[in-house]
Amino acid sequence: MPQARLMDGTVLARRIVEATAKKAADLTDRTGTAPCLATVLVGEDPASVTYVRMKQNRCRKAGIESRHVALPAATTTAQLVATLRELSDDPTVHGILLQHPMGEHIDERAAFEAIAPEKDVDGVTFASFATMSFGLPGFVSCTPGGIVRLLDEYAVDPAGKRAVVVGRSAILGKPAGMLLLARDATVTYCHSRTRDLSSVVREADIVVAAVGRPRLIRGEDIKPGAVVIDAGYNPGNVGDVDFDSAVERASLITPVPGGVGPMTIATLLEQTVDAAARQLGV
Ligand code: NAP
Repeated sequence: MPQARLMDGTVLARRIVEATAKKAADLTDRTGTAPCLATVLVGEDPASVTYVRMKQNRCRKAGIESRHVALPAATTTAQLVATLRELSDDPTVHGILLQHPMGEHIDERAAFEAIAPEKDVDGVTFASFATMSFGLPGFVSCTPGGIVRLLDEYAVDPAGKRAVVVGRSAILGKPAGMLLLARDATVTYCHSRTRDLSSVVREADIVVAAVGRPRLIRGEDIKPGAVVIDAGYNPGNVGDVDFDSAVERASLITPVPGGVGPMTIATLLEQTVDAAARQLGV
């Protein structure tokens, strides 16, 4: 059986980060100010601590300053909102990343909405959702933005194609479908209440798996020749797609790891430098 071509997110992300580092250096030379990303973490969840540290390291390597605000787990929504408003008003901060999930006592939406839209480099505010869904310039959610870049890189034009997005979370599934719709795909969302998931996925020219259930989507669910994007990342480096069987049916497929994952941070860095350029008037 022919095997699908791999969509290599590691190589594309490296290229984006290199270009971003050049832009950051140029911006710093011209303005005397380095782009700055503020990271905000509530509590000490080990996975979140690791993610934030990774983002800070990658910023440093790309010539982006990072400022970290660590808040205790008991921080209230009002305190978090106040911190985010201060960062939004601080002219030396160009992008804000609020690491989530946060504690259940926090009103996540209220916190996100305290981020100024021009600093929303993680694409989590209502303002960013609106520009994403209208296909207008603005910041995109980083993982969905990375997915669309991968499609572009491999010359997959979503226009007129049937795209099935499995998952509808606010950070991943929903915006991924919005970005595909803005590019004229015919989009169907699936979720935990979808009946007969396999038969819906089987109609897709483009499948985006964004569920968090290891190997939920099997090769037999994939229409021959479909493009398969696996955003899932489960323990043991396993995606939401059963790679070994799907690779036999798809024309293009993202590996896990090395597909969608690296694109997320690359998009974050790129959007941070773009935000700084706009705010510094360059
Ligand atoms: P999430 O918030 O838990 O959302 C999961 C979605 O999948 C929900 O919409 C849920 O439906 C749906 N779902 C759950 N079980 C299902 C089933 N059996 N059939 C169909 N749909 C089902 O997860 P998330 O934050 O979007 O993350 C999804 C995956 O992407 C995870 O593996 C995560 O690690 C990965 N991820 C990767 C990156 C990256 O950088 N590569 C970034 C973010 C997330 P309901 O809405 O009905 O509950």
